Amino acid sequence: MKLTVKPLKQKDAGRRLAAIDRVAAEELELSGGDYIKIEGGSTAIARVWPGYPEDDDSGVIRIDGQLRQEAGVGIDDRVTVEAADVEPAERITIALPQQFGIRGNVGSIIRDKLSGQPVTQGQTIRFPLGLGLMGGGSQAVPLKIASTEPSGTVVITDSTEVDISEKPAEQIADTAAGGGAESPDVTYEDIGGLDSELEQVREMIELPMRHPELFKRLGIEPPKGVLLHGPPGTGKTLIAKAVANEIDAHFQTLSGPEIMSKYYGESEEQLREVFEEAAENAPAIVFMDELDSIAPKREEAGGDVERRVVAQLLSLMDGLEERGEVVVIGATNRVDAIDPALRRGGRFDREIEVGVPDRDGRKEILQVHTRNMPLADDIDIDEYAETTHGFVGADLESLAKEAGMNALRRIRPQIDLEDDEIDAEVLESIQVTGGDMKEALKG
Ligand code: ADP
Repeated sequence: MKLTVKPLKQKDAGRRLAAIDRVAAEELELSGGDYIKIEGGSTAIARVWPGYPEDDDSGVIRIDGQLRQEAGVGIDDRVTVEAADVEPAERITIALPQQFGIRGNVGSIIRDKLSGQPVTQGQTIRFPLGLGLMGGGSQAVPLKIASTEPSGTVVITDSTEVDISEKPAEQIADTAAGGGAESPDVTYEDIGGLDSELEQVREMIELPMRHPELFKRLGIEPPKGVLLHGPPGTGKTLIAKAVANEIDAHFQTLSGPEIMSKYYGESEEQLREVFEEAAENAPAIVFMDELDSIAPKREEAGGDVERRVVAQLLSLMDGLEERGEVVVIGATNRVDAIDPALRRGGRFDREIEVGVPDRDGRKEILQVHTRNMPLADDIDIDEYAETTHGFVGADLESLAKEAGMNALRRIRPQIDLEDDEIDAEVLESIQVTGGDMKEALKG
């Protein structure tokens, strides 16, 4: 059966789940926990997750960025879905990242955590060990499946033997079956509370970049520049990175203040180089942070350097081919301070406002940043979404990280800090409690 790909809800990401429209699932005789094969440009194996009620009879399959990458598809693409037979794994060997810093019975902890998950040799799994502690927040330890017995895609069960490879994860090759590519750094599931903004981004940037021929046929000019504006820490950079990742575009970032602090003549030179590099690596996204500092209204800045840099930027953008292969995303929290010449047609002529999140937005953002944390039962995310009025994404991320740090401090007496390695069992015993969150809120 053919289904249309949509993003997964933030809280369900990272676990190889596919939320399938319940009507379609019934037709396919699939129920929660079954394994399926998703075929797009390539193939991914996932586990069925009960569909969201709003998707009933819509022909939708929701999968996260990792699975989209493995299946070689983007949002709104059609995929073929069928039940898959997945053999139980007798044995798997897992490679840990270099400088893992954890000892003890990591294998059995991994088995317990990953039980039921389909895995393939060469695949990278982001594994929330302990607090997802080593990276904090939404990050997790990237582990690699070095080998499996039998081969192919297998499912980890309670009786799977889990060995730890002598070689670190960095030395194990990716395989095509495992997706071939690195797992993406930022996906749409890492962004909370910006659904309608992301919808606009998809329409303005992703669609033209993925299907330039479509726009050509229709005689529509794809945008060269999109301006994201809103307060700091609301997710503008995150959006730019996620789009680049979703469409596998080269990503280049440029900071306004940094460009301006270059010596005489070097600012323009650097701008030119960035655009050249982007063109060479197209499709590409150039992200210009704090655009207002590069391109303030001319009367406001008046400086010679500003004028030259703006002129250079204008000519570079005008010089971009109309095939939509390079798109410039500008970000600013002072949209009115930007030179109007830059906001005219053919330049930054589309705008998306990225505002301060509301209660539901805050909840989704908190879900992103606590996804890999072992939360104690006394934590109710709704409660924190309610009481964090005025917090932006960056604040909520700090809150979650700080709560994690508080939990760490509590177990510190059990850890020998002289020791390079932390005991995996101790790490696994940590939970982030309501107390840790409340303490973090006070700070
Ligand atoms: P901006 O570019 O708007 O100043 P960023 O995208 O750099 O903000 O956000 C900084 C950090 O805050 C991000 O790396 C992320 O961890 C967190 N963050 C901000 N907005 C969001 C969001 N909407 N959802 C999830 N995390 C967010």
